[in-house]
This record gives sequence, C-alpha cells and structure tokens, in this order.
Amino acid sequence: MKTLITNCYILDMVGDIPKITRKDILINENIIDIIDENISIDDFECQRINAKGMLIMPGLVNTHSHAAMSIFRGYKDDKMLMDWLENAIFPVEEKLEPEDIYWNAYLSCLEMIKSGTTTCNDMYFGMDKTIEAMIETGIRGVVSWCITDDSIKDKPEKTSEFVKKYNKDKNSRIKVLVSAHAPYTCNPDTIKLCVDLAKELNTGIHIHLAETQDEARIVKDRYEKSSTEYLADLGVFDVPVILAHGIYISDSDIALMKKKNIKGGISHNPISNCKLSSGICDVVKLRKNGFNVGLGTDGIGSTTTLDMFEEMKTAAYLQKINTMEPTSINAYEILKMATIEGARVLGMENQIGTIECGKKADLIFIKTDKIHLQPENDVCSNIVYSANGSDVEMVMIDGKIVMQHRKMTNLDEKDVIRHVKKIAKRLCK
Ligand SMILES: [Zn+2]
Repeated sequence: MKTLITNCYILDMVGDIPKITRKDILINENIIDIIDENISIDDFECQRINAKGMLIMPGLVNTHSHAAMSIFRGYKDDKMLMDWLENAIFPVEEKLEPEDIYWNAYLSCLEMIKSGTTTCNDMYFGMDKTIEAMIETGIRGVVSWCITDDSIKDKPEKTSEFVKKYNKDKNSRIKVLVSAHAPYTCNPDTIKLCVDLAKELNTGIHIHLAETQDEARIVKDRYEKSSTEYLADLGVFDVPVILAHGIYISDSDIALMKKKNIKGGISHNPISNCKLSSGICDVVKLRKNGFNVGLGTDGIGSTTTLDMFEEMKTAAYLQKINTMEPTSINAYEILKMATIEGARVLGMENQIGTIECGKKADLIFIKTDKIHLQPENDVCSNIVYSANGSDVEMVMIDGKIVMQHRKMTNLDEKDVIRHVKKIAKRLCK
C-alpha cells in the first residue's frame, strides 16, 4: 500500500545544519519512496494524510532501555543504588513471571510510542515476552538477553535461536544482539562467552559500562584495570558495541577506544544518571573524539519516564553545566543524538534516524500550534527545550500509523493499564 503525506513541514535531520522544508512524502509499503513538492498520485487505494499544523521528523531512537521494568515506577525511590537494587528491585524481579514481563514491556512500549520513540534497544531477561509486546504494539526493537555470571542458563541458546529467527529478514522490526550485563557482574569467562557468541552470530554486544564509581573501584580491585581496559583486553571492542552510560571513562580509556576503532557507540542516559547520582557522562568530549553518542532512558525504576523529550532536555542542561559553557552543545546536536546518532550507535543508520528516500518510514508528527511551542523563532530549540512527549500527535512506524490523535490505533490501552496495575499490586506491596 502507498501513503501520501501532504502539507508537510519536514525536519529531516540530514546534515550538520538544521533545515525545514515544505514538501510531500510518498511512502511505498514501509519505505520512504519520494520526497518532493506537490506529489500527485493516481492511485485509488493510496492512503492520504494531511499533516497541516504539524512538523514531521524521524522517530526518536532510545538506545538503552529495560522495558519490563515499568512496574518499578515510583517504587522505593530516592534510595542509595545498592540498597535500592538489593532491597527493592532484585526481590521483585525474582518473582516476575513470563506473563508479567509481557504486560510490563507492553506498557513501556506504549509509553515510548506515545512520546515519539519508534525504536528502542532493550536488555533484560525473558525477552521472548518483550518481543511479543514489541510486535503487537508496533515499535521497532533491538533486544538482548542480559547475561551475568549468575544467570547464564539458556540465554546464549535463546540469543542464538532468536538471532536466526529475526536478523536475516530485512523487513523484520526485531533485531537481536548479545548482551553482557556489566564489567562488575561478568567475569572474564562470561565476557569471553559473549564475545565468541557475538562473533559466531555476526552481531554486536550491548553492555553497561563505567556507570558508577563503585563499579570503577570493584573492577580496579579485581583486575587492576579500568572497566574499559577490562573489556578491551577481553575482545569486546572487536565486535560492534552499545555501551550504556560511559561516565567513568578516562582520557587513556578514550585513547584505547580510538585505537580499537570501535563500531557502535555510547548510550547516554542523563535522567537515570541524575536520579541515581551516578555522575555526568562527558558527552561533549566523547563526541569531539569521534564517538557516536545516542540517548537512552534506562529502565523506569531509575528514570521514571520513558519520554525521550525529557532525556533531550536533561542531556543539554547536564553538558552545559558540566562544561560551564552554554555553547558546548546546541539543540540540533541534541536532536541528532536522539535520532541519527542513536541509529549509528545501533548500527541502523542506513535504515532509520533521518527522513530520506530509501529509509524506513518511522516518522513522528509534532503538533506545533501549542502555547508552549509559540512563537517558532527556532524550531529545534522549541523541540528540545519546550516540547514534551505529549506534543507528538501521530506516530508512524514501518509505514503503519500506530498512534493517531494521541490514541493507539491497534490496541486497548486501558486493558494494558489494568494488567500492569494487577501485577504491581501483587509484587510491589
Ligand atoms: Zn540499564
């Protein structure tokens, strides 16, 4: 089926300077086919969308999430990290049934789509249930079974099975990676197992890296190395990587990563880092050194909302205060991190992240006539500093409209809320 979008103001996120053009977009099935002025099409069955009053931009890319953690919203907040993990999160996680993971992930997928995220990179356990939720909600998902020393079990087999099932089909919305949890929860044998698996399956590794001072201390005590050196020595950078957090990365770590010419990049999770008092990732320095830096939310427990507009704002403010330099990063650069740079981190820059012919039709429509988005002196500034997820009026993923007039088109949102409330009542007393 073809879809013609007219009256479009397009922020395509192509190039280093923002440009907004008034053109039509013709989509063939799930691919952007033509972007031009006044496209006319003589096709009776063509779906037509009038985008008057809306700005169209590429869907946002969440480079690090744990979708099934949605029941932890507001659960035992404002604690020290280890106290929170050991006394709040882990005891509940032990009791999660596959069906709980399905509904929790479902809620997160809804929240992401309704706030403009069209792709997320998700790491957790029980991922077959998260995949089901992703397929049903319509989001594009990169998924991985999180491996630690204490929980290897059937995860390599599951990863292998699902890589074979999804990764070869170029039209699949699901892509599967290998995931090692973190340097402090994976000993050298576990890391090597993950590297070998990624090489065998021709895929990348998603891992938490250099998130806290505690991690840096533990890894130094155990191996007399930084977390980055530890991973480098075990061959992690020989495959594409998605490195979540990247806060405690020294200049010599940066030099090492440059020498290794890493593919993929870093996922910056500003709100999670603030809420858990983890520290500030030096995004400006990492980008100056040529690394791709995308934005991520992390799990609901540590971020509280999956709204990437909130992450964009926080990322901008953190860099400005970290450098004490308001020019250190601008709104357009932040938007790039949330779109094309995030796509590069996931190795998907040829498919998503910009509005260009030949790319997947993952588009968000932002209603710009709202009070807090006027006047439009600088549209990119307005999106980063003034907009929020509820300004997204319509979402198209893979050529399909999954949200219109702020309502999901294909499912009962209230039913999902009912299920998650029941799970929270049972587990989060
Ligand atoms: Zn995480």
